[in-house]
Amino acid sequence: MIKRYLLVAATTFSLVPTSHAQSQVKPCAADEMRQKWVEKNPKILEIEQEIERQIKEGIKHINLSTASKKTAGDQTNNPDFWYDIPIVVHVVHDYNTYNTSTFIGDFVPDDFIYKAVRDWNIVFAKENADTADVIEPFKKYIGNAHIRLHLATVDPNGNPTKGITRRRSYLTYTGGDQAKFDGWPRSSYMNIWFINRMSDGHSSAAAYAYQPPTAAGIPMYDGVIALASYMNNGSKTLPHELGHCLNLAHPWGNTNQPGVACGDDNVDDTPPTKGHNTTGCTAASIYDSSCATNYFKIYTDSLGHIELVNYPDTTNAQNLMDYTYCDKMFTKGQVQRMHLALNSDVADRNILWDSTNLVMTGAKAPIPDLKPTPDFSVTLPGTSSYLTRNGNFAFPGRNVKFTNYSYNDTIENVDWEFTNGSTVVTKASVETNFDQTFTESGWYDVKMTVTGNNSGDTTRVWPKAMYVPDATGVDLSAGYIQEFADGSDRDKWAMFNYYNNDFKWQLSDHGIWDNKCIMYNGFDNRVLSAFNPPYTGTPEGDIDDLFSVPVDLTTLGGSEAYLTFFYSGATRSSNSTDVRDTLQIEYSINKSNTWTTLAKLGKADIFNKGTVNVAYAPAFMSDWEMKGIKLPAAAITPYTVFRFRYRPGANLFGTSTGNNFYMDRVSFSPWNVGVAPVEAGTVSVMVVPNPTQGDASVIINDLGNSEASIAVSDITGKVVYNAEVAVSSNQARVVIPASAISAKGMYLVNVKTGNQVATRKLVVY
Ligand SMILES: [Zn+2]
Repeated sequence: MIKRYLLVAATTFSLVPTSHAQSQVKPCAADEMRQKWVEKNPKILEIEQEIERQIKEGIKHINLSTASKKTAGDQTNNPDFWYDIPIVVHVVHDYNTYNTSTFIGDFVPDDFIYKAVRDWNIVFAKENADTADVIEPFKKYIGNAHIRLHLATVDPNGNPTKGITRRRSYLTYTGGDQAKFDGWPRSSYMNIWFINRMSDGHSSAAAYAYQPPTAAGIPMYDGVIALASYMNNGSKTLPHELGHCLNLAHPWGNTNQPGVACGDDNVDDTPPTKGHNTTGCTAASIYDSSCATNYFKIYTDSLGHIELVNYPDTTNAQNLMDYTYCDKMFTKGQVQRMHLALNSDVADRNILWDSTNLVMTGAKAPIPDLKPTPDFSVTLPGTSSYLTRNGNFAFPGRNVKFTNYSYNDTIENVDWEFTNGSTVVTKASVETNFDQTFTESGWYDVKMTVTGNNSGDTTRVWPKAMYVPDATGVDLSAGYIQEFADGSDRDKWAMFNYYNNDFKWQLSDHGIWDNKCIMYNGFDNRVLSAFNPPYTGTPEGDIDDLFSVPVDLTTLGGSEAYLTFFYSGATRSSNSTDVRDTLQIEYSINKSNTWTTLAKLGKADIFNKGTVNVAYAPAFMSDWEMKGIKLPAAAITPYTVFRFRYRPGANLFGTSTGNNFYMDRVSFSPWNVGVAPVEAGTVSVMVVPNPTQGDASVIINDLGNSEASIAVSDITGKVVYNAEVAVSSNQARVVIPASAISAKGMYLVNVKTGNQVATRKLVVY
């Protein structure tokens, strides 16, 4: 919670980009997050009352001279003197290299984490030098927490670890409870997550943690989550948040806002206070007496002796739990409260420091030597924006940048190898990054062989990690329809699940004409609730791409061109405001990494089947609709690639609100065949396949009429085919024979039922 003060100071030296010195950043969101869970689960209030009762019982009489397990003397090696707590630091990242001077980035190096843990321990052992600056009235109340944090050396599976996990996730940008999907059992480890940014749902806080009464009911969210930018040298953010984990409230109470009204934290030697919002060490804050004048407490011990303790009449603005950014101390009363939390089974705190647990987690063992874990990112040179930098799709002849992100050991050598099955490209001994150009098309495996400084090599292969498209665009003069069928060139439609989760583009067996099509898996198969969260976190924030083959749109022979596809999709949630899925279609020309938006399709454009509670799949041709998008002249080039970027949505519990989305028969044509089939009334009409080279069928769904008439006319208005049919079981199907539509070009299909008329375009090529 020291953070903003430090950031403001750092800005003076131009170390921190202005975007980071957000004035609205709150030091800590512990109170609002507690309130959120209390609203969901009022039982938290009962647990809070019970734990307060236990604390009052435990502190019948405060002996201010002994507010710790033992006192006096050098107790460094006395295990009874310390509360040793195993911790695990989860680095939730997106390969943003961490700058150890500006604290910007998210891939925090091990050494920096070790240093941070040492800093936190200094505070918990009352060894921070700035306690000398505590004002006189509070000097005698400075408490020594006698807490030592240890990075675990044994993970929950019994494997050696450095007590640090690294997981790539988009959730590093929308941090909150959902980013905590990789927690270790909280009874054995105190979990600490570092992320890049908080989500707006947490008021852009720098960090937060749950006190035990709240944490008791949400074990998977227990622990501290903080911005990686607040792991800076000497920051007391983590001691503040761990104070919450050990049942400390803000001094103004946890149902209050700082600076608003006098409040109390149920700790006697932190006088009542309004609290101070990011004031720094000003006299007005440090000597603030507005809530504490004539503050004293009367205690009765078990023998009936009465004692009056006259506490300071100024508030303890230098307390670690205040927001002043002038924080230097816990009080002895706070220490006692933390120790009582550590001796309580509420949220399993009494197990953490148990000697058996310390052995099981290897908390007091030295950090082991581990083999290096290979890892890399591939980006576009010169780009840094999350949304544009991904280089897994690499145009032939254009540079992409590989960066080594191997960890777990001091890396001494990295050898790289790329192969598409026929060509092998190698790059020896690059430990940082390099630009690489690929000319031959195909899917490339990436192989890294990483040598650590003393524990040996590790080799890892990422199959099909990147794709290089063909160097020339597909000639469309003979027609091109992508059906995603077996034996087609569908492998040249590259799909990337960047974050390796359940939400992704994939092949499907529910195609409109043949069996195959492509789908975005947006249905959450996990059983979810507020107390059973998704184990991979909310899909909100994820992005997944599908790239088309490069096409030569000039071969269509006209000044107009359309991208056409069939689609079928449903939502899972019936709450329209929760449904936020989007499909953004962009294009690139001339092998440029600049993508221009063609269309951004929202729920009204992609979900034509309403709400479906199970995993949606189209069953009938009539479940499909066609969409045609006119391409701007700038897109009609000899080398145009389309990118379909899907962003799934979710509700506040992290459950996906969309359902599966299907796409099929993607084609390029000089005519718009995608008339939006939206009419009032009860009839729906489709023409498939469309475009066609042979027969076409008219599918009519009509709830209100029993007969339909069909008339097919060519572009001159001449009727080339007509028919009258019965609509049985609400559906009719009429075949337009190839012989009636043998001339290439566009036809109009008119369907009349009752007093409704629907018109569709049909393209023959
Ligand atoms: Zn706080």
